[in-house]
Amino acid sequence: MNVYDSHRMADTLAPAGFAETARPEEADLVILNTCHIREKAAEKVYSEIGRIRVMKEAAAAEGRRVLIAVAGCVAQAEGEEIVRRAPSVDVVVGSQNYHRLPTLIARAAGGEQVVDTEFPVEDKFEVLASPERAAIRARGVTAFVTVQEGCDKFCTFCVVPYTRGAEVSRPVAQIVAEVERLAEAGVREITLIGQNVNAYHGQGEDGAPSSLGRLLRRLAGVPGILRLRYTTSHPRDMDDDLVRAHAELEALMPYVHLPVQSGSDSILAAMNRRHTRDEYLAVIAALRAGRADLAFTSDFIVGFPGETEEDFRATLALVDAVGYASAFSFMYSPRPGTPAAEMEQVPDEVKSERLQRLQAAITRHQRAFNAGFAGRDLDVLLEKPGKLPGQLVGKSPYLQAVQVMAPRSAIGQIARVTITEVGSNSLFGALAEPAIVPQLAIAGA
Ligand code: SF4
Repeated sequence: MNVYDSHRMADTLAPAGFAETARPEEADLVILNTCHIREKAAEKVYSEIGRIRVMKEAAAAEGRRVLIAVAGCVAQAEGEEIVRRAPSVDVVVGSQNYHRLPTLIARAAGGEQVVDTEFPVEDKFEVLASPERAAIRARGVTAFVTVQEGCDKFCTFCVVPYTRGAEVSRPVAQIVAEVERLAEAGVREITLIGQNVNAYHGQGEDGAPSSLGRLLRRLAGVPGILRLRYTTSHPRDMDDDLVRAHAELEALMPYVHLPVQSGSDSILAAMNRRHTRDEYLAVIAALRAGRADLAFTSDFIVGFPGETEEDFRATLALVDAVGYASAFSFMYSPRPGTPAAEMEQVPDEVKSERLQRLQAAITRHQRAFNAGFAGRDLDVLLEKPGKLPGQLVGKSPYLQAVQVMAPRSAIGQIARVTITEVGSNSLFGALAEPAIVPQLAIAGA
């Protein structure tokens, strides 16, 4: 979501004359878009501000003014504290206010130190939907689009409900307009994002609330869009309509990121996840019944307060039961202000030992999943040049990186690729004969 927000901040600043640079030392404005999920997030931000302040002072010595803005969830959480601790910061802008950046930057340029972390009444996405006020542009053939923000679930380890606020969904028409603009700019794959994306319930074009399944069906009809994905889902919000969409929609990729966090019912209850292990497995079974080749990925927290060896073994057994294509796993670390931070903690050495065992199990399944594609053909959306001359990198339907020798003109097209080698992080292949996938032919291939 921060990647999406960063792009949109740049898009809203473009009409004011700002352009992105890859060289921070050349920038007139540096925006730190921060994440509060990370451990010691605020301290990391202050140390980064210190680094940028050195650049700001060097520019000032040359007579050039550089502005520093801090955006995102740390800005939201710290507010005024940031300008108190770091006077070199000119603008603090919360995650719901980045559409106001042009005004805030103009005020800062006039010498004011500006803090804006209110939850505003106007809709930041309205600004984005306006071609006059935001120059939405593509940054490749894939793009994120936020459809939902915030969360009402209050898992006991998580800061999102406090930093991103209550759950809100964008109206369908607004999302369609943004996706159409991205498709016209060359985007072929859209990933719909939200902290709890399948809780989506935005207003439909007919005025009635729309589910994520309905939204996906609508977006599959946007000319130029070949692939759809969404993340991150909550098992409780995986409704029948979304399950059916996976069975019926060709553009919806056979890949679901479905965080479970733990395989133990008592830990799931302590986390306030609002589902049991069996309910989670039932969701996976329903999805697989509609589309057998679905790949699943997940998130795991090990060493949550109160986790016993027996609880942890239940997590390992769940990993074996699902057979994940990959997964993210972390040791639990307390986030100040969340209920779990006050619970009795598991010793670090226990957490660390369990994390190693869990990651070994995940890696075993990931290798087995990838090995199953050796010698098979996969449809690959070619995204960008690879490391070797003449090589392109793309993504399989299952989100695996695939490297293949192909002409640059094929970027943005879907090619059929025969997998010749399975590496630890990506697959390698050769264009199949013919390397043409129904929607598009590859020029020159
Ligand atoms: S559902 Fe996800 S975003 Fe919401 S509180 Fe739980 S972990 Fe956080």
